[in-house]
Amino acid sequence: MIFLKIYFRTCSKILLNHTNESYKNMAIKQRDGSYAVVLDAAITTPQELKKIAEVLEKYGVSLIKFSESQRMVIVGVDPEKVEEMCNEMGVKLANAVGRVVRSIKFCPGNTLCVMGLQNTIEMAQKLKKFDGMELPGKLKIAIAGCSNSCTEPAVRDIGLMGTKDGYTIFVGGSAGRKPRIGYVLAEKVSPEDAEKLVEKIIEFYKANAKNGQRLGDFIDSIGFEEFKKAVL
Ligand code: SF4
Repeated sequence: MIFLKIYFRTCSKILLNHTNESYKNMAIKQRDGSYAVVLDAAITTPQELKKIAEVLEKYGVSLIKFSESQRMVIVGVDPEKVEEMCNEMGVKLANAVGRVVRSIKFCPGNTLCVMGLQNTIEMAQKLKKFDGMELPGKLKIAIAGCSNSCTEPAVRDIGLMGTKDGYTIFVGGSAGRKPRIGYVLAEKVSPEDAEKLVEKIIEFYKANAKNGQRLGDFIDSIGFEEFKKAVL
């Protein structure tokens, strides 16, 4: 039970601690002219879900979709009411579009999963500081607790895969129009060093990539060995 309590306390913090104040990257126009907005809800509690559902019902939202990146897409929102609605729910919006850190997807790791080798929830909390950061291209991060890779870290711009000796770090992967497996940048990285390495990757990419260049394309443009030298 104690693990569940810690787990759900962590969930609440992740759900409630977004810091993005602008809506510019957060609303997606729908075919009927209404908007969809995105809330992070990879993990939550029944109490939080109940509260969210009550508020959405009050604002006439009729459809919720859970996205590939583990987020809750609220469809049919009146843009005029978004702020008021989010305040009532006690949540802030996540970034849905734009050249920003878009999503930080994580599995339950060793907090709940019997296969888990690393604390992915704690790692996700640490990496949340990058959420919404403006970059030359969109950037997705995935964290998995073991090599089963349920969150697919090898095909994300930055991927962390848990092993018994720490994390394997992938860079430059993608699952979109040009699918590609990321390069293995480092192995057996401690959680502390993994956090620092992610920061270094993001800083180097931000400072040196061309506008519109995804991380994988940027790495190819300078060569993986050069990239490695710069960030390791
Ligand atoms: S990646 Fe591993 S630890 Fe994470 S949910 Fe899948 S099996 Fe469990």
